[in-house]
Amino acid sequence: MSQTILIKDVTVITLGSSNRVLHKAAVLIEDNRIKKVTTDRSDKLQANKIIDGSGKVMMPGFINAHMHFYSTFVRGLTKAQPARHFEQVLHNLWWRLDKQLTGDDIYYSALLMLLTAIRKGTTTFIDHHASPNCVRGSLQKIADAVEQSGLRAALCYEVSDRDGPEATRDGLEENREFIEYCRQEHTEHLKALFGLHASFTISDATLEKAADIGQSLNSGFHLHAAEAEADQRISREKFGLSVVERLHQFGILGHKSLAIHGVHIDEQEMEFLKDTETAVVHNPQSNLNNGVGIADITTMMNKGILVGLGTDAMTVNMFDELRTALWAQHLRYGDPSVGFLEAVNSLFINNARIANRYWPTPLGVIEEGATADIILLDYDPPTPLIDDNIWGHLVFGMFLQPVDTTIANGRILMENKQLKLDIDEQEVVAKSRELSAKLWERF
Ligand SMILES: [Zn+2]
Repeated sequence: MSQTILIKDVTVITLGSSNRVLHKAAVLIEDNRIKKVTTDRSDKLQANKIIDGSGKVMMPGFINAHMHFYSTFVRGLTKAQPARHFEQVLHNLWWRLDKQLTGDDIYYSALLMLLTAIRKGTTTFIDHHASPNCVRGSLQKIADAVEQSGLRAALCYEVSDRDGPEATRDGLEENREFIEYCRQEHTEHLKALFGLHASFTISDATLEKAADIGQSLNSGFHLHAAEAEADQRISREKFGLSVVERLHQFGILGHKSLAIHGVHIDEQEMEFLKDTETAVVHNPQSNLNNGVGIADITTMMNKGILVGLGTDAMTVNMFDELRTALWAQHLRYGDPSVGFLEAVNSLFINNARIANRYWPTPLGVIEEGATADIILLDYDPPTPLIDDNIWGHLVFGMFLQPVDTTIANGRILMENKQLKLDIDEQEVVAKSRELSAKLWERF
């Protein structure tokens, strides 16, 4: 028998291509799909479970297009030397941290982030993982946490040459194995991409191997591209090519591939991205935090490049990232009229387009037939909420409001702000504190 949930008397922001506001609507979920969306009061819908949506706004669960679950335990770590530029950020912090990660660290780092994400209404992640001394089996550790959380994620391992040939070989194999696993198991919660760290840490020989494996499995690639100026400088000095041109030559770009950041790319590189339909993922909080610059998403989107929004592990709160994206475009152009639509579209429209390259059933939209990834926020609009001003309410009002209910794949993961999982959240937090203290000792 199918499971049904009916949410009644709710204000719906549909997002998607029609993006409308529906007042006093009813939404029926059947198993993992949205079966019916209606404002017809005479419609006598029945369900196993009824949720009163009055005083709440329903919208699709957020999608985070670039994340690093493994970074969770860095919170409060004081042992890293201050970094004066991007390469020092990697050497002093991230490349010291990721070498110390164990299987338990990887699992709990992911689980803690996923539980926080449920509270903040994010239901889909595209994650980028590195643990050079625990490569093999690392993606399955994250996958276990994802399955337990009930959320969905596309995973990959960041291959590079920075940790020696064994770690490189293991990284290539880890991607291959996880891509094959997702394909054989037809996993709904999990998808796989082929992960690469960044052009400047990957030799031609490794890039060629990765391209061969990824292409033979018909997988997209997920990698940092031109995050800092150093990536471009090294690429031009060592390989005589710009970062994006080099990736293009090796066949890394494409409809299912993600180029993360794109802060330091020129017009020609933008053409490569556009022609290959490669999506770019913007992570403004991380870029500002590392002092690497502000990506020109306005020009990229005007050229027709699909630009989405990720958090690069700075947060799991997508409202937070969205607002930063907005202010950053205003600042980049010194013009407050630039970048508003680009920023909101990157999160609310384009992330769904990106996710649908991996999950074929529609995500990021409230419509009949779409995947039932839904959140309810407490929001009683103090000004009229209509089709024309949805973005204004989201950016300037709803970002403050708590998420009350999170549903992913038709399953209620949080209701009345209480997690509905078979997981003891306090135990997860305590275990994380214990593991992170040990990690810091090894750091
Ligand atoms: Zn990243």
